[in-house]
Amino acid sequence: MLSVILPAYNEEKMILRAAKTVGGVLEEAHIVYELVFVDDGSKDRTWEEIVSAAEKDEHITGIHFSRNFGKESAMFAGLANAKGGCCVVMDCDLQHPPETIPEMYRLWEQGYEVVEGVKKSRGKESPLHRASAGLFYRILSKAVKIDMSRASDFKLMDRRAVDALLAMPERNAFFRALSAWVGFRSTSVEFDVRERTEGESKWSTWSLIRYAVTNIVSFSSAPMQFVTFAGIGVFLFGILMAIQTLFRYFSGAAVAGFTTVILLILFIGSIIMISLGIIGYYIAKIYEEVKARPRYLISKKIESRIRDAAMEEKT
Ligand code: UDP
Ligand code: MG
Repeated sequence: MLSVILPAYNEEKMILRAAKTVGGVLEEAHIVYELVFVDDGSKDRTWEEIVSAAEKDEHITGIHFSRNFGKESAMFAGLANAKGGCCVVMDCDLQHPPETIPEMYRLWEQGYEVVEGVKKSRGKESPLHRASAGLFYRILSKAVKIDMSRASDFKLMDRRAVDALLAMPERNAFFRALSAWVGFRSTSVEFDVRERTEGESKWSTWSLIRYAVTNIVSFSSAPMQFVTFAGIGVFLFGILMAIQTLFRYFSGAAVAGFTTVILLILFIGSIIMISLGIIGYYIAKIYEEVKARPRYLISKKIESRIRDAAMEEKT
């Protein structure tokens, strides 16, 4: 069975449409499926929509969070509650084309364990957004050592890869990169990002910046190396200044140079503060991980009534 995981936050208008469209595509391709809607603590009627859709459609599983935990948590909750032998994660605003799922499924049948959806085009975006997304992915690609520039959250994963992901204890999990990190036999399919038809994007510029910083930090300790390099730089500069100062002292012109002292204090002071900030950020993340709070809390759940013969046999 194929489980399609659809995280939804304030998507009341999209639930029914997504269920119908995705269901239709999968019926047509003769794929046994379930739809796992994860309501990420929506403030509108999303959960009511999921409940009413689940009453009519036996393929639907619904999970309701006690509050908004973010898309990463929603995807993990979906994966943890999926019963399928393989799972597809996609946005429930249908920006990821459902027609691509059968293609991914066929590749899975051929033995691929991770099928990445790769963006052929990025859809409509402002130039600034495009530029900053470009920078983020360049840094991240370096950190993960895999090209992430066209990566998306749209992907199919085999049960084995899903279980490997779920076994990871980290709180700040970055799904998009972790699915590449786990390895397994993988391939990719291209897709075009569609326009959103209803509602609006949940991302503000500020939340995107936070998303970028959190994920770079969760995958790379390079910013901390900055501290070392800045230290080395300042040290070398310091040697030059020391030579100059000593030279002045011995040539008897030592009083001048107050400007230099002020500049040095400002320069070194700001480097130290930036460095402390970077280290502090990592400590904050360590603190979060050490507390080991759950990634999400489920307050309500509806089970799909669809059964998978292959899975039943195993248990
Ligand atoms: N989403 C979520 N929790 C959040 C924000 C978003 O589950 O806190 C879901 C949202 O409902 C959608 C998907 O994540 O299905 C992608 O969100 P959105 O369309 O706002 O992002 P964009 O397509 O603009 O990157
Ligand atoms: Mg979207």
